[in-house]
Amino acid sequence: MLSVLDIFKIGIGPSSSHTVGPMRAARRFLVEAREAGALDQAERFHVELHGSLALTGIGHGSDRAVIMGLMGFEPEATDPDDAARAVAEARAEGRLTLFGRTDAVAFDERRDIELRGDIIPTLHPNGMRLRLLDGEGATTFEQTYYSVGGGFIASSRQLETPAEDDLIVQAKKGPKPFASAAELMAFCQEDDLDVASVVLANEDAMRPRAETLAGLDAIWAAMLACVERGLSTEGELPGGLRVRRRAPKLYRSLLETPLANDREQLFDWLNVFAMAVNEENAAGGRVVTAPTNGAAGIIPSIIMHYCRDDGAPQIDRIRTFLLTAGGVGMLYKMRASISGAEMGCQGEVGVACSMAAAGLAAVWGGGPRQVERAAEIAMEHNLGLTCDPVGGLVQIPCIERNAIGAVKAANAARLALRSGDDAKVSLDQVIETMRQTGLDMSTKYKETSEGGLAVNVVEC
Ligand code: SF4
Repeated sequence: MLSVLDIFKIGIGPSSSHTVGPMRAARRFLVEAREAGALDQAERFHVELHGSLALTGIGHGSDRAVIMGLMGFEPEATDPDDAARAVAEARAEGRLTLFGRTDAVAFDERRDIELRGDIIPTLHPNGMRLRLLDGEGATTFEQTYYSVGGGFIASSRQLETPAEDDLIVQAKKGPKPFASAAELMAFCQEDDLDVASVVLANEDAMRPRAETLAGLDAIWAAMLACVERGLSTEGELPGGLRVRRRAPKLYRSLLETPLANDREQLFDWLNVFAMAVNEENAAGGRVVTAPTNGAAGIIPSIIMHYCRDDGAPQIDRIRTFLLTAGGVGMLYKMRASISGAEMGCQGEVGVACSMAAAGLAAVWGGGPRQVERAAEIAMEHNLGLTCDPVGGLVQIPCIERNAIGAVKAANAARLALRSGDDAKVSLDQVIETMRQTGLDMSTKYKETSEGGLAVNVVEC
């Protein structure tokens, strides 16, 4: 069953679909090769990145992520600096020790990792084919995986026979089986529960309550650490666009002018926390998918600003926020997609904004209908948002877009709390609209950097 701990995953930047997913797929490939008895004899390997993974793979660090995964690094447990050092060594030495082996194989990156943007897989635009080869160059083991957004990966078999792994089918196994906002609302109404309690009841079926709460607290701790690093780390972001980090300077100026106009400061605080996270993400730091890396700044920003008292985190509020936002994130994952390569940025920043609005409405005391409405309003005004990252990097427009998304989420929550129960648009309707809009959207605007800002902004 899909869990809130799947929606929020600790990983590394800059992209959940293009960094975390490929890293997990490369490692899983070697685990499966070992189980099949095909790992020890391999003399070489070959990886093809297809579709969006190839077209924006360099800017998103997919090549580096594949190497990390092949060396056995796991996104949730990896120190980004250690992994970067190991990749640099493998590149310099031309040798790489595959996970599960003790001896190294030859490694020539130009030969062994191929970007095939000309291959657009039919099952999902983020495809990768991995092979092990013998000394003659013949394939001895092969698998194809897809990075389907938010760090989730799937094999060809899983996508070809979705019934077995279908998230909606799985969701029906929970004690409070909801696979739509309407079903979620029905449980809230029948059992007189808030959204967070319904989500938590299903989590209880997966693991002891204490483990779920510890998982939520670990997610928040990783978010907070990311914000703090982003607020204190200066310098230029990698990738060649010469984008400088702005969060530390803005943060200092906010601390120095505490009595400035409140209305201006609301935006400034939301902006600075969101940008701190996304600048850290762009630098390849440790980030929590919320629900993706590219959109990772919105939820921590809202929590930082609205779930603390006198600067101290209020853990019960944060848990309620994460459970509510996570429940809404599951609806998007089940009924549409959280992959920018499938949905454009509406599937990343749009979904994060919707989740954050729901979480904030709950923390502000809104009932289930207001939570639903907040999530709906936030997505309604992100429909059609395209993905067009300049230079294939998760920097422009992504960093500022998270700041805008955080402000929009807060406004959606306010609108919902000030509205009655007579919503004309339901959350289910807006999720379906996002899905259809994503399908209709040109591939130029779905994480390929072939349209929009990516072609109109001259790279430095
Ligand atoms: S534009 Fe949006 S979807 Fe595309 S890389 Fe940036 S944050 Fe992700």
